Amino acid sequence: MFCKQCAALTRQLQHDPLAEPRAELLTGSCIWTDERCRDWCSECTDKVRELFHLRYQITVGDSVPAEAITYFLELERWFPNWPFFRPERRSPGIADKIRRMVRHNTKRTCIAIERMDREYRKREADQTQEHRTNG
Ligand SMILES: [Zn+2]
Repeated sequence: MFCKQCAALTRQLQHDPLAEPRAELLTGSCIWTDERCRDWCSECTDKVRELFHLRYQITVGDSVPAEAITYFLELERWFPNWPFFRPERRSPGIADKIRRMVRHNTKRTCIAIERMDREYRKREADQTQEHRTNG
């Protein structure tokens, strides 16, 4: 999963009891602030995105292929102290909260994109109008 360098970085990540989950659009999941490392290489960062999504699916009870679960548990054996694997962060008890956070975030982003799109179209239309007036 991780390259040698990023594996070492991941082993250094420490649990922060005050860390809070945040919905993250790219991964379609929630990520706690102490689980991520800024210095991961881009390749490992990409792989971790899939892993965050996998944990989301496990937490909310989506159906996940058996080999994905095996992979997840195997990785947990390699990085037992990585805060990402803390059992309470994938417990069924937080499933509703996590699902709501991700849905809310997706919805909010869609609304923002629609608004940007409307503004862009309006600007385009205004410019066309201006050209007509000038010409
Ligand atoms: Zn790496």
